[in-house]
Formats: sequence, C-alpha cells, structure tokens
Amino acid sequence: MPVITPLPHPVAFVGAGPGNADLLTLKAARLIAAADVVIHDRLVSADILGLAREGTQRVAAGKEGFGPSTPQAAINALITGHALAGARVVRLKGGDPVVFGRLDEEIEAVEAAGLPFEIVPGVTAASAAAAAIGQSLTKRGRNAALRFLTGHDMAGFAEHDWRALARPGEVAAIYMGKKSARFIQGRLLMHGADHATPVTVIENAARPDQRVIATTLGHLPADLETAALTGPALTFLGLAPRAAQARLSQTRQELA
Ligand code: SAH
Repeated sequence: MPVITPLPHPVAFVGAGPGNADLLTLKAARLIAAADVVIHDRLVSADILGLAREGTQRVAAGKEGFGPSTPQAAINALITGHALAGARVVRLKGGDPVVFGRLDEEIEAVEAAGLPFEIVPGVTAASAAAAAIGQSLTKRGRNAALRFLTGHDMAGFAEHDWRALARPGEVAAIYMGKKSARFIQGRLLMHGADHATPVTVIENAARPDQRVIATTLGHLPADLETAALTGPALTFLGLAPRAAQARLSQTRQELA
C-alpha cells in the first residue's frame, strides 16, 4: 500500500493593509479566518487579528526599524515549522507584503523547505496616505513617475538618486522616514531642491488616530520634532494636502 502524505497547505503571505480592517481584501479576511496559525508583524492591528478563529495560534514576530525585533531566521523557522506540520499558515504583514516587507527572505525559506506559497496583496501605506490627503500619487503635467523610498536600510540611512528627486514636480513616498528626515532634507537641499517643496507626513494613515503634518522641505525636521510622532508615518515629498495651502501657511505663521 502506498503511503499517502497530505500535501501541505500553501503558506499565505497576506497584506493586512494600513491597519483598518475595512481595507483588507476579502481574500485576506477569508484566509485569516481559516488559519491555524497567524504570524503577524507589529503593524497589524487588533481588529484584524480579531478575525481569526478562537483556536488560532497568533504569533507576534515584530520588527522595528532601529528597535527590538524578532530575528529573520526565527521568523522563517516559525513559518516553515508550522507549515511542514500541516498547519494553515498565514504570514500577515502590514500594508502590501511586496513593499518593504522583507518578503523574499521568507519566500526563500519556504521554497527551501519545499513548501508552496501564495501572495495576497494589500493596500500599501502610500495608497492609504494619499487617500488621507485627497491627492493622487500621479498627475498629468506634474509627475509621470512615482518613487517608493525607504528612509533607512540595514546599513543605515539609505542613499538614493537625490539629484533626480530634487527636481521640481517629483513625487516620492518615503517609508520609514521619521528618523532619517534630517538626512533626507540635507541630501535634497544639497542637490538643489527648493526649501518650499511641499512635504506631508501622514501618521497612522487610515486609522482612527490618523494625523497629517503639512510642511515644507525646509521646515520638515523642526515640524516633525514638534509633532513628536509615535505611530508609523509615511512622508510624501512633493505632495501637499488638497486645498490646504492656506492651512499650511497659517501653520507656518503659528510656528514662526
Ligand atoms: N509593507 C508595508 C510597509 C512596511 S515598512 C506597506 O506596504 O505599507 C513600515 C513603514 O510603512 C512604516 O515605517 C511607515 O513608513 C509605513 N506605514 C505602514 N503603515 C502605515 C500607516 N498606517 N500609516 C502611515 N505609514 C505607515
């Protein structure tokens, strides 16, 4: 008699969106509800984790830019260990797993273990933040290209094509940009960017505690310091909140 071993379930790398359960895809909600194990990162909110069944094992595998984090190898081992044991594993990541999510390292571990996987896209922070300020990320006559940047990488502050970014009309969505704000400002000004370039920081986009800080490149570090942000924040270079020019100048006068 041949021994029939059941095929393992595909590991699902699922986008949790910006932290508001309404912005989950139906597929994400369905997979979370059917999961035996949900391994989630720090940015995933409680109401989303609440979609899991009572018996579902929830494992926090946190990562923080400069702070405490679970080693990547330990996360990989958690994912493959549970999946090889036959569990339905959902690896739940903030936003879209394919954007600054260190997804490839986990996929490589899953592939090395001979396991199938699937990726379920989510709403990335840049999309949620653009919605929060009523702006498009691209606009005819303004920008035909859009950049997603990270403020820092494993080696420290990340280097980019500053000369290109400094040009008028450029739009960039900067992830993990709080600690690197002064560095980014310095690089851009050094490459000729205008001090008056609009910069908008959206903290906790799409969440009840969302905050919008409308400023300029010249005032970015000072205004960030005043705002004392504690949540995840997305910084737009080259975008101001719609119809907020008046509010922006008023804020500047108040701060002056
Ligand atoms: N995969 C995620 C990004 C992970 S990197 C995505 O697609 O959104 C983590 C960074 O994402 C944070 O430092 C912050 O810059 C941004 N971010 C995530 N959620 C956010 C939110 N609700 N509001 C603002 N920025 C957010």
